[in-house]
Amino acid sequence: MQAQQRPVVVQGAMDVETQHIIAHLTESHEEPFGPFRCVRGLYEGQPLVVSETQWGMANASALAALAIARYQPQAVISQGTAGAHDPALDVYDIVLGVRTANSSAWQSHYRAAGSGVDYRGLKKLGVFAWDERQKAFTQEVYHEGDAVLLAAARQAAASYRRGRVVEGTITTCDSWNCEVDRIAFLRESYGSLAEEMEGDAVAQVCQSFGVPFLDVRIISNSILRNQDPWDLGTGSVCQDFVLALLRAYWRQGHEAIG
Ligand code: SAH
Repeated sequence: MQAQQRPVVVQGAMDVETQHIIAHLTESHEEPFGPFRCVRGLYEGQPLVVSETQWGMANASALAALAIARYQPQAVISQGTAGAHDPALDVYDIVLGVRTANSSAWQSHYRAAGSGVDYRGLKKLGVFAWDERQKAFTQEVYHEGDAVLLAAARQAAASYRRGRVVEGTITTCDSWNCEVDRIAFLRESYGSLAEEMEGDAVAQVCQSFGVPFLDVRIISNSILRNQDPWDLGTGSVCQDFVLALLRAYWRQGHEAIG
């Protein structure tokens, strides 16, 4: 594939996390991966692929690997909704994933039969990804977001009006945590601002294949503030933010240079 044809791949788990961007594409083509929706098109004249992964780490990472093989993208963005770990965060605030971590990758300390369980008694393990500098697979708890994508996200943040834009750690796990004490533990242990079910699995794959990656999440629910259900309106607002991020990214001159 020619360098100038290499797209950015944007993933979202659900229809409400992808459809708004798809609606902004011109010359769009449906190019599914099996039963998973994937749409290629142009946004502001630049090649963009939107991949709808369904929930969870296995789906998102499989589709990231497939998209990397098919499109050789210049970057991959995992975006969509997330639950707050920081009580200061409100619904519609956006978290830029300076780093992500897999919060299911841990080892418990030994406890004998009958002595009960304690989810605080854990050692963080991390997951294996290829480290290009060390030329080896290394086990890391955190994966760093790409600096160029992050710079573009900061530019988009300057004109975001629906809430605050903060930067920090996002944890990923095939779980939805609603116990306030559990969330406090995760926040203390990982320094996390928010949780979701895809980002770090995609970061892991992107690191191994040398593809720049960023996780961008909008707070759709905060059990710390109230027990309101998930706010569906956040999905399209996050996508508008990602479109602004992409415009800034391409303005920075990362179009067409591969
Ligand atoms: N609860 C809603 C929304 C789906 S939750 C429903 O029942 O329809 C799962 C998706 O939302 C995942 O893709 C995940 O990335 C994201 N998500 C949003 N808030 C989350 C939270 N508090 N914990 C984990 N994932 C969350």
